[in-house]
Amino acid sequence: MEMSHRGPVFKKVFAQTEKDLRELAAIPDDFAVLFAAGGASFQFSAIPLNLCDKKQKVQYCVTGNWSKTAKEEAERIGVCGEVEVIYQNTERAPTTADLKDKIDPEAAYLYYCDNETIQGVQYPEPIDSPIPVVADMSSNFLSRPIDWSKFGIVYACAQKNFGPAGLTIVCVRKSLIGRELTVCPNLMRYSVLEKNSSMKNTPPTYAIYIAGLVFKWIMAQGGLKGIEEFNLRKSKKIYDVIDASDFWSTPADVASRSMMNVPFINTLGEENAKDFLAFCADRKLMTLAGHRCIGGFRASIYNSMPEEGVDALCQAMKDYEQAKK
Ligand SMILES: *Cc1c(COP(=O)(O)O)cnc(C)c1O
Repeated sequence: MEMSHRGPVFKKVFAQTEKDLRELAAIPDDFAVLFAAGGASFQFSAIPLNLCDKKQKVQYCVTGNWSKTAKEEAERIGVCGEVEVIYQNTERAPTTADLKDKIDPEAAYLYYCDNETIQGVQYPEPIDSPIPVVADMSSNFLSRPIDWSKFGIVYACAQKNFGPAGLTIVCVRKSLIGRELTVCPNLMRYSVLEKNSSMKNTPPTYAIYIAGLVFKWIMAQGGLKGIEEFNLRKSKKIYDVIDASDFWSTPADVASRSMMNVPFINTLGEENAKDFLAFCADRKLMTLAGHRCIGGFRASIYNSMPEEGVDALCQAMKDYEQAKK
């Protein structure tokens, strides 16, 4: 942790990490891979400041808290001609057909959150768009293959799916680099990060090192195809328990169900939520409370959650339902 980020040891770690990520996610050469700090939320500001050089309109799809927060930040910094919400539904992700007549070919970008961590709403497929698509994949990056031809920018903070907090990976189509506004802070500029190989200042070295180990682990799980199968199997087990019961339910539309975050409630209501959480804690099943803004329960079953953990939760849900009947 004390090694210089410009020393030979870390330089080797850094180069290997980028190489492994490019191979693992099949990132094409016309994308820059930037290792940024500041968390995913930092990109909520960086995106309009890097892409709205001519005060263009920008378009947002709002499917939950994270896309809503990103949209609000674009409004707050006020560099876009207009921030237009072209889709709003926190239980269902849009398809290309839903957006076809709404995307403005003059807008600077179309923004969406590929997996809404709190609502458990995931885009089943990328959106086909004539304008660059910017996708927040913070909670589902490296959980399934990515069709890069559909995206302008894909970004993700590390702490949900591939490493410790402090690192955010931003994959930017090179043709989108260099459009930043003059007011865009230096360390937010994709052009500056690219030119300096993400080392304009000290990058989050330890988080990068750990992310590199996680990339190797995902490769050993059969790469993104292998991990997708694993994630599908795990999430299906929980949805099957919910679907087989009148006691449990989940809000998201079937086609938009997330493989990473499964929000659910039971018929006993929010006032009894603590009872199920205590029942789970007795079995050492932890951190199952829903996000404070929507309540209920949420199973976050990222790449690293073993299948045994999912099996134990499914058993607990069945046993709890039985006990309450
Ligand atoms: C967690 C999360 C964020 C926020 O990440 P920070 O690194 O805390 O800024 C943004 N978007 C999504 C989808 C997330 O899950």
